[in-house]
Amino acid sequence: MRIVYLDNNATTRTAPEVVEAMLPFFSDAYGNPSSMHSFGGRVARHVREARERVAALINAEPCEILFTSCGTESDNAAIMGTLQSYPDKKHFIMTRVEHPAVLNVGHYLRARGYRVTELGVDGEGRLDLEELRDALDEDTALVSIMAANNETGVLFPLDAIAALVKERGIPFHSDAVQAVGKIPLDMKRTPVDMLSLSGHKLHAPKGIGALYIRKGTRFTPFVIGGHQESGKRGGTENVPYIVALGKAAERAMNHMEEENGRVKALRDRLERELLTRIPNAIRNGAEKERLPNTTSISFEYVEGESILLMMDAVGICASSGSACTSGSLEPSHVLRAMGVPFTAAHGSIRFSLSIYNSDADVDHVIEHLPPVIQRIRDISPFWKDYQAGKPLSAMLAGEQGQHHH
Ligand code: PLP
Repeated sequence: MRIVYLDNNATTRTAPEVVEAMLPFFSDAYGNPSSMHSFGGRVARHVREARERVAALINAEPCEILFTSCGTESDNAAIMGTLQSYPDKKHFIMTRVEHPAVLNVGHYLRARGYRVTELGVDGEGRLDLEELRDALDEDTALVSIMAANNETGVLFPLDAIAALVKERGIPFHSDAVQAVGKIPLDMKRTPVDMLSLSGHKLHAPKGIGALYIRKGTRFTPFVIGGHQESGKRGGTENVPYIVALGKAAERAMNHMEEENGRVKALRDRLERELLTRIPNAIRNGAEKERLPNTTSISFEYVEGESILLMMDAVGICASSGSACTSGSLEPSHVLRAMGVPFTAAHGSIRFSLSIYNSDADVDHVIEHLPPVIQRIRDISPFWKDYQAGKPLSAMLAGEQGQHHH
């Protein structure tokens, strides 16, 4: 069966040239880059080159790149490392739509006595900069705000946010895991102090990430150990994966134009066709200030999980905006923060493309999804109620009885 992979914000295919670049470091070139002998030294050269490539992708200096095990570690290291460096300050600011790699660190800190501000967003997923300005105070140790939302693709205005936070001399971290490789980022222009990225979102393998730390930023190691990574992170370097991330970074620079041209055009066509061919379909998030590869669409009065299962049967891979892992069908925290009504939030699907997608992939979805939605609606009591003009409040009462504890 034809597989149409539209779940690239979850993870991407490791590019064949990236796999090829990392292979020698599993076999002949197995030395430890910290060794004094030249056998290890040869490997160190490749780590250095990878660091230069990752730095180049975001226009940073190589010495500002710290390799980590993943985006989650980068986020944890940035937040915990900064708070350790400012032990007298007990206020942390984030948004309500962060990835759990930041959000749950915030909740962890709150449980340990920190004051934690969670900034809200409007119906289009946008931040209110005045709310941010008002939240900053003398006790603020760190502000962490993502560059691009993983569910909706909505971009936050990083330049303006960074300027606002730095005006007050407060450290600023951004989780840019979904942005790096998809849109241009320039650390010489944007005054962020720390920025997280993850390999598997840009065609490197899972389990490698990096944290950009601007020169002069106070940072206390999160992973305590040897002198690797200039003493900022212990642990023998994961050479094959570091080389892979370097190769992926180089590749991303070369593909940025295609991502923002051809891939964006595919996304736009997919979105336009689905919104016009399927009744009661709504885009979640701002139309313009958005990643070029992502669209989140709500199909009202249907469950996202049902859509995913039926799409799976016709070879389409995507994600839903509700997390059913806990057994409840709570809509995602992102859509809830945006105030998306539950009738829409429950039926939200995220499609995320990459340069490996083609026109034929989009055609496949446009052909198969409308009848899938229709079939689910045909057996949905909510859809029947809606069509019969039954008031929303009656449906809401039933739904809340089921899902809210
Ligand atoms: N931050 C964002 C915005 C993400 O989308 C993800 C991955 O889903 C992460 C952090 C976590 O990255 P990793 O899977 O490398 O730990």
